[in-house]
Amino acid sequence: MQIPYGRQTIDEEDIWAVTRILKSDYLTTGPMIPEFEKTIADYTGAKYAVALANGTAALHAACFAAGIGPGDEVITTPLTFAASANSVLYCGGTPVFADVDERTYNLDPKDVRKKITNKTKAILPVHLAGQPCDMDAIHSLAKEYNLTVIEDGAHALGSEYKGRKIGSISDMTTFSFHPVKPVTTGEGGMVTTDSRELYERLCLFRSHGITRDGKRMARNDGPWFYQQVDLGFNYRITDIQCALGISQMKKLDFFLSRRRELVERYNEAFAGCTDIITPYQLPQTNSGWHLYIIQVKNHNRRRVFEKLRENGIGVNVHYIPVYMHPYYQEHGYQNVHCPKAENIYLRIISLPLYPGLSDEEQEYVIVKVKESIYEAI
Ligand SMILES: *Cc1c(COP(=O)(O)O)cnc(C)c1O
Repeated sequence: MQIPYGRQTIDEEDIWAVTRILKSDYLTTGPMIPEFEKTIADYTGAKYAVALANGTAALHAACFAAGIGPGDEVITTPLTFAASANSVLYCGGTPVFADVDERTYNLDPKDVRKKITNKTKAILPVHLAGQPCDMDAIHSLAKEYNLTVIEDGAHALGSEYKGRKIGSISDMTTFSFHPVKPVTTGEGGMVTTDSRELYERLCLFRSHGITRDGKRMARNDGPWFYQQVDLGFNYRITDIQCALGISQMKKLDFFLSRRRELVERYNEAFAGCTDIITPYQLPQTNSGWHLYIIQVKNHNRRRVFEKLRENGIGVNVHYIPVYMHPYYQEHGYQNVHCPKAENIYLRIISLPLYPGLSDEEQEYVIVKVKESIYEAI
């Protein structure tokens, strides 16, 4: 048996949606892009959404739109995929790592406060595993110090904070549509915002910094005219991908309910195991459960991990604290320590969780987890 930790769910409707576009006039920059953007904006409750080539491009665009540049500090979590912090580096800014809350594994607002300096420009919280961060506390810090908030919602499409969908709360929120994420376009990303100004900057950045908007151009030679007014990239997504995204969004609520069902079964199965710490959920939040992360005792982790891999179970570790990577160690982060994040890193294992995981497969995972923990003791 081979069970991955995450996997896309594609049906005939998705396949039809994509092949229909292959036979149409536009493979890219056609009508599917604004339709997908509207689908995500409507779903999250944001005014605007800008689709991009991938989630990393979305983060890069958001940092650009926020005006992050050399000398600016952006506070983020070490327990994330490298892209969250890299996007700050792309803009010439400096990621600053604050420690996490031991229960949620998300940014601890108390430690964020300690890391604020007069160079801090933004806070970049990541909703790890789909578990929403303490956004009220983060927003009150942002207000107090006049900071932009960019949420990395790569895990959190469909997650809710105090009754609001992630994507509608902060200045900007980014999403990823990589195959393991809540819905997929193959590769793809999105930024949501309520700000017209940020929306326009995001659109500019996605396509070379080129505009055809008369209001933005210094002059206008005629109907063929356009001007490059900033330095952007080709971060466009295709119509083929957006057609898949639109089709996938019709199934998101089903995907979320199946994930929640699987999480409840895991929680029940491990409730009596004193050697496993199951995920904690912050009150007044509703996680989309992108990942199911358990903690096992430090000295058992490698053995348990290896044992599960030997049994064909694609466990993973989310994440190695970003500043521990050689690139960061070689670029000024050798003395950075977030003790809670480092401790969590030593103990965590992500178990398989995706809508297509069957009850039988999950049962097999549960048995093997218990077996391997018992053997490791
Ligand atoms: C997947 C992911 C990204 C990057 O998204 P891509 O679409 O792979 O570029 C960024 N942040 C987090 C937390 C992610 O999990």
